[in-house]
Amino acid sequence: MSLRLSRIAQSLAGSAVVEARRKADALAARGADIIDFGIGEPDFAAPEVATEAAIQALRDGRGAYIDPSGLPALREAICEFERSRNRRAVDPSQIVVTAGSYGALSITARALLDEGDEVLLPEPYWGPYRSIVQLVGAVPVPVPGRFADGGFTFDAAALRASVTPRTRAIVINTPNNPTGRVLGSDELAAIADIALEFDLWIVADEVYGQLIFDGSTHESVANLSPEVAARTVVATSLSKTFAMTGWRLGYCLAPASITETLARINQYNVRCPTSFVQYAAAVALREAWPDLERMRRAYQARRDLVVARLSRLPGVRTDVPQGTFYVFPRLPEAWGSGKAFA
Ligand code: PMP
Repeated sequence: MSLRLSRIAQSLAGSAVVEARRKADALAARGADIIDFGIGEPDFAAPEVATEAAIQALRDGRGAYIDPSGLPALREAICEFERSRNRRAVDPSQIVVTAGSYGALSITARALLDEGDEVLLPEPYWGPYRSIVQLVGAVPVPVPGRFADGGFTFDAAALRASVTPRTRAIVINTPNNPTGRVLGSDELAAIADIALEFDLWIVADEVYGQLIFDGSTHESVANLSPEVAARTVVATSLSKTFAMTGWRLGYCLAPASITETLARINQYNVRCPTSFVQYAAAVALREAWPDLERMRRAYQARRDLVVARLSRLPGVRTDVPQGTFYVFPRLPEAWGSGKAFA
């Protein structure tokens, strides 16, 4: 037999977070008391209104296939949420409902990229971008970040210098996993300028857009101008916003000219995200704002605690995260690799 897996499948790297989680689960199964600092997952339960709505949808028999672009009522609810929380006028024709932002990023990669196309990933970035890009035969190109004081700063000059004739897209993630950094208006404008100058797509991962601290609110690159919006696909989800990670519900917000293509790819991937979750998601987006605010406050208080305690450790330096639930400290060299420390 000469059966083999595809070259792309063979080249896929495993995930350190999944590995850590499996280790933690195994230890927990043997009775160890584990605090898992690995995985990016809220420890809150989903909002009660969402849970009730999901149960009700099941009781009402809402178990049939849904259009691959998403339930119309949910796409309406998404538009209202985007209008009121992110100050952007969007139309349901710009929305494709996906299986989480993983689903949104995956169909976006398949829609935008051909084999050999290069995708710029400003460091430090969320690891799965690399694999999502590789899965379509495209090439992830890490762009080094600059290290200043406690943390990384975005480096527009390095981004520009990484553009080649093969470059097709830039992936940005604000607020950022793992640093908790929020890109400022000038940084967003610099990214947009590069995209406009070199005719690139921008893929904006805004999964932490609602988890911003100290009274600031989310700024999206897609809000800069209609020209920038016309080349931007926003990928986001309810996972972190409403502590609904396992529900697998996200969406692409994209130029209307490409959403039918995105929906087609969505179809051949999952047919549609889970039907009753779509009904519940519409309720969460409309009614679970108090839950969101309660969780956001808790993350901010935890950030304050963790940063204060880290800062007391000799030799450890860290920026104060402006959003997300991550912190990305710089450890003394003598402590070994980050993985060894973890
Ligand atoms: N993007 C970033 C930056 C993330 O941290 C995560 C989850 N850790 C995701 C996307 C994917 O989340 P989901 O598919 O649950 O929306």
